[in-house]
Amino acid sequence: MPPMNEGIMVILSSPSGAGKTTLVKLLSERKGFVTSISHTTRTPRSNEIDGKDYHFVNIEKFKKMIGDKEFLEYAKVFENFYGTTKSVIFQELNKGNNVIFDIDWQGTNQIISQKLKNKLLTFFILPPSRKELFKRLSNRDMKDKLIAEERMKQFDKDVLHWKDYDYVIINNELEICYDQISNYIDCEISKKKSNYNVDQIKKHITKLTS
Ligand code: 5GP
Repeated sequence: MPPMNEGIMVILSSPSGAGKTTLVKLLSERKGFVTSISHTTRTPRSNEIDGKDYHFVNIEKFKKMIGDKEFLEYAKVFENFYGTTKSVIFQELNKGNNVIFDIDWQGTNQIISQKLKNKLLTFFILPPSRKELFKRLSNRDMKDKLIAEERMKQFDKDVLHWKDYDYVIINNELEICYDQISNYIDCEISKKKSNYNVDQIKKHITKLTS
């Protein structure tokens, strides 16, 4: 446990389409987690607000920030750069606030390897089935079926990273999924044993990848 006045860090990652963004929002609203707002070189989607969903920057600015060592972690995901800046995160953690990150497996591994003094919990969110994932990917703004198929191929690669995470959660029903994450966080903070069942997860992953 970190000293009483220091926050914990919770990372949520998932292959595209597993429903992680809503979970991050719920954890922030219901458990008072501060959401880390990443910088990205991606173009904003129609419903996204600069400074709220992301800090949207151009590639030159992003590269300058890399050079100035402003990032705690950064990675290239689907042809765009994404990164978490150090300053705001450390300010929040030092104030005693818990921080939640919506980042991919590359960024997660970078944060794990830094072995920061704050407690770190990592969650990997998976869809209930390949069929459901394809449905979710096809229902997004990227209507094009070809893009959904590309993302399915990416899914097959991304899912292999489940082993890097403390907990793997199946997002079948949002509220159940939220309760599981919330319960595991509470158990970790109070050092209680949880009912996490890794064998069940392994079976699910075999099903998803075969
Ligand atoms: P999207 O473009 O759909 O918002 O995000 C694409 C992917 O980038 C998601 O898997 C998301 O978790 C990841 N991502 C968002 N922000 C960051 C970040 O700051 N660092 C890293 N490594 N990944 C990020």
